[in-house]
Amino acid sequence: MISVEEALEKILSYVEVLDPEEKSILDCLDQVLAEDIYSVIDIPPLDNSAMDGYAVQAEDTRGANKSSPRNLTVIGEIAAGSMPTEELRSGVAIRIMTGAPIPRGADAVVRFEDTDEADRKSSQGTLLQIGIVRQVEAGSNVRCKGEDIAKGGLVLKEGTVLRPPEIGVLASLGRSTALVIRRPIVSVLATGDELTDVKQSLSPGKIYNSNTYAIAAAILRYGGIPKILGIGRDSIESLTKKLGEGLDADMFITSGGVSRGDYDIVKDVLAKSGEIAFWTICMKPGKPLAFGVIGEGEKKVPHLGLPGNPVSSMVTFEQFARPAILKMMGKEILAKPTIQAVMTDDITNTDGRRLFTRVIVTKHEDKYYARLTGPQGSGILTSMIKANGLAIIPESSKGVRAGDTVQVQMLDWQEHPLS
Ligand code: AMP
Ligand code: MG
Repeated sequence: MISVEEALEKILSYVEVLDPEEKSILDCLDQVLAEDIYSVIDIPPLDNSAMDGYAVQAEDTRGANKSSPRNLTVIGEIAAGSMPTEELRSGVAIRIMTGAPIPRGADAVVRFEDTDEADRKSSQGTLLQIGIVRQVEAGSNVRCKGEDIAKGGLVLKEGTVLRPPEIGVLASLGRSTALVIRRPIVSVLATGDELTDVKQSLSPGKIYNSNTYAIAAAILRYGGIPKILGIGRDSIESLTKKLGEGLDADMFITSGGVSRGDYDIVKDVLAKSGEIAFWTICMKPGKPLAFGVIGEGEKKVPHLGLPGNPVSSMVTFEQFARPAILKMMGKEILAKPTIQAVMTDDITNTDGRRLFTRVIVTKHEDKYYARLTGPQGSGILTSMIKANGLAIIPESSKGVRAGDTVQVQMLDWQEHPLS
């Protein structure tokens, strides 16, 4: 038996960071930047108003309050998107909208709320005078040129994961495209004579192929592009043909056919199609796993053969396929986040393997608690629906008692607090 760490290390040694591609910024979400981004402009490009109000000289507002307003002459108005035409002198004010450039000579903006505009508006049409009822300091309500991003500066470093704010910043710099590490294409093949495609009707003895969809959805979730090959039958011809169809990819994932009970044919075909090792991994679920390279010459693809049981295939996907996909995408953080939680059920570990137990994590008064989802059979796929984490019971442990602290690998952090 090999450990989870040994298996992961070996798998990761077979995959490389992929090439970069230039894409529309919106298509780059969650991809890794493959260039340094320097700013060719200042943001904001000019000093501008942070408020709707009046541009003034702060000195003119000294001592202003409700009972002794400072009256200024209004000489114009500036909307966002237009340029000031007049210079501001002492004793005057220019009405200004949020985002509009500060006129020359002004050093502060007084908010509408700090003027008597509302009272005057009811009695006059265009205002010729405004009363300032609150003192402002130089710089008040002024956003300075380049205060967010200075021209010439490094804004985003190569290796940055592009999330919505990074994509917004690229747009604010006028970038419509960016160079990012491309997404890996991952071939997905389910194997088994018992499998029926979801579009077909089910005959006795058959089951629907769920693994293809769970695996393909997980590939999509972590940023890859699934190439679905359908179902390979447990025959030399069928499997050989299907494997040949999936070599145009960065990785090949099969499910089923790697456990001891399977027809040797599946393993034979896999072994003949490349250099495949069949591993017994010290984990549960997911003991049998195949890994190696399939294809020849130019068309050599790292292959991960996941077990057929639906829970085992998802749990092993999380441990081995996900980090491989993330590595190919150029990501640096490959592990799922883990937390410490108080287990509220007993768990026994009978055969000295590392248990990945499906649990529901909740939070009470700053402490995490984990309870079992219910029966833990590796065919019970609904346990993965209920679970938001996998409690990890080490291979050296005989199990845990309710009240013990366990490490939990979080599968999903909810938008709402875990409670
Ligand atoms: P195997 O690893 O091929 O021996 O399969 C182990 C168990 O997983 C069997 O009960 C299979 O019927 C089931 N299984 C295998 N492949 C799939 C699949 N694609 N979808 C759902 N169940 C599967
Ligand atoms: Mg099978």
